[in-house]
Amino acid sequence: ATFGTLSTRLTESLKNLRGKGKLSAADVDGTIREIRRALLDADVSLNVVKKFTGDVRERALSDEVNKALNPAQQVVQIVNDELVAILGGSQRRLEFAKKPPTVIMLAGLQGAGKTTLAGKLAKYLAKDKHTPLLVACDLQRPNAVQQLEVVAGNAGVAVYSPEPGNGVGDPVQVAKDSIKFATDKQYDVVIIDTAGRLGVDAELMKQAADIRTATSPDEVLFVIDAMIGQDAVSTAQAFQDGVDFTGVVLTKLDGDARGGAALSVVSETGRPIMFASTGETLDDFEPFYPDRMASRILDLGDILTLIEQAQEAFDEEEAAQLQEKFATDSFTLEDFLKQMQQLKNMGSMKKMLSMLPGAGAMKEQLENFDEQELVRTEAIIQSMTKAERQNTKLLNGSRRLRIAKGSGMTVTDVNALVNRFEQAAKMMKTVAKGGVPQMPGMGPM
Ligand code: GDP
Repeated sequence: ATFGTLSTRLTESLKNLRGKGKLSAADVDGTIREIRRALLDADVSLNVVKKFTGDVRERALSDEVNKALNPAQQVVQIVNDELVAILGGSQRRLEFAKKPPTVIMLAGLQGAGKTTLAGKLAKYLAKDKHTPLLVACDLQRPNAVQQLEVVAGNAGVAVYSPEPGNGVGDPVQVAKDSIKFATDKQYDVVIIDTAGRLGVDAELMKQAADIRTATSPDEVLFVIDAMIGQDAVSTAQAFQDGVDFTGVVLTKLDGDARGGAALSVVSETGRPIMFASTGETLDDFEPFYPDRMASRILDLGDILTLIEQAQEAFDEEEAAQLQEKFATDSFTLEDFLKQMQQLKNMGSMKKMLSMLPGAGAMKEQLENFDEQELVRTEAIIQSMTKAERQNTKLLNGSRRLRIAKGSGMTVTDVNALVNRFEQAAKMMKTVAKGGVPQMPGMGPM
């Protein structure tokens, strides 16, 4: 799960405010203290922690909260806003050159995920009607060129690499040549993979800086492993001084990242996070949206990404219908079942489910999620009458008992499913209408 522990601790500390009418300064300070500790434990840099908690505190003690109908919910909103702000505010898209080819250079430590990212980015751009060329300028690591060739093959894109047997070769020359090659052959985006080292070192920086000078890239993306924790800021700053970059890509967000890198790097470098890498396969890749990431961290769900991924997997018409259903409250258990059945066809069920509001709180269930869960859900919904599937309000005690018996499940199972469905439908409605969903159990705004 994205930032598992940080997410759990932030949501827990905010839940402590629940049910309080007015918030006293002591209430606010208690929560701020917990937020501070959660952020520090997640390896967020001290500067960022100070600024973040300072800003949240100031707003939480202001009239904005005092006069709110539901102060606790208002504080959630504030924390959400401030998270969006430290994650960079709004999304920054790739800048393409007016005259192709657009040159994108990748830089970062060895193992950060540059080569993998090159393939992901190429595939993503190819889907968008671009014709990318991957360029192998990591001539340091044994097999790096071959690895890039494999990645390019998987992504179905072309690769430019030095002739084998030409010795170690000169990466700066390779980079330069590749741009001429791309121009001649009409590739419109050149993605240059560069060498990394296990630690920051002067020679590496110089080589990357030379490649930058030789190719004048439109974008230099600094690729950073989200799991490197406290070293994130110093590594980013070293690359900023040595090569400089226009944007950041966070990788391995699927792992047990503590969140520090993501939450520190924008403020500390002034550069936006542009993409996130979330797994080893080429499709585990997303443009980075600060607002959606904040919602995921606060367990408010990421319905927009969910809808987009659904749009890719299903046809557009179906996805539009779905969004309409969310907005108009006509999403039924039947749709829910159909969704789940279709999800079976989609790469990663767990990943999709983890984008639902409240998913963090169901972490354990998600970890244990298996196909059996789907079979059980199917059994329960199929034991309902058509009318019941369309209107869960009909489900009184005796009907629930009948459904439990019919599906071989318990009434508790039936209740859990119905609750989950109702909560999801409610939250999706809010989001489909453009609002911020409430944290589960926080009451109305
Ligand atoms: P490079 O040295 O920077 O080119 O890094 P690589 O692209 O070779 O990646 C290093 C390792 O990390 C490889 O085993 C990749 O499969 C893995 N990897 C890259 N990106 C991700 C990611 O987003 N999630 C996970 N789980 N693994 C990744």
